[in-house]
Amino acid sequence: MACIRIQLTEGVDTGYYCIDMSDQIPELIDPVVFAERQSSIQGLLGLQRLDRLAEMLFDEQGELKVDLYFYKQGKVPVIEGCLEGNINLICQSCLETLAWDVDKLVKIAMVQTIEQADRLQDGFEPLMVAEEKMSLPGLIEDEVIISLPDYPRHAHQCLQYKGNVQSADARTIEQKSENPFAVLAKLKITGDQ
Ligand SMILES: [Zn+2]
Repeated sequence: MACIRIQLTEGVDTGYYCIDMSDQIPELIDPVVFAERQSSIQGLLGLQRLDRLAEMLFDEQGELKVDLYFYKQGKVPVIEGCLEGNINLICQSCLETLAWDVDKLVKIAMVQTIEQADRLQDGFEPLMVAEEKMSLPGLIEDEVIISLPDYPRHAHQCLQYKGNVQSADARTIEQKSENPFAVLAKLKITGDQ
């Protein structure tokens, strides 16, 4: 999916805000205020800050490149931009690491009523805003998680290889476990006599 790049005019006169930080994506933001000020947020977000996503990852190495722009469509505050990064998922076939490119287009409209949600256009997804402040990493995390496949898998036949290894292990365990049982059986017979 292509990534939309939004160029902002910077400067005090325009009133535009531009926050540029490395791994310092703010925790709580007021999206309505951000939208009214036409703010943008660019920066890197470390994966270790995203607990729910981390549970789906092979490791927490890497970070997400965040590029979000807040503005208003009529009365509705919206967030547009993209999230990019390289993360390591867990292959659901072999449980090994699976390199995955995140490239998520973000188009969110912050609505307060169902009617507002129904009126949305241009592919915006509604987000009900209950409180003034919201967790920006939480929102980013949600967006990345919904972009991931339900069952991430290697494109190659990793399971077949793993399957062979497992059955070989199983045979070894079976052979080993035969002997103790055989010994126990003999002991039991001896005891009965
Ligand atoms: Zn695999």
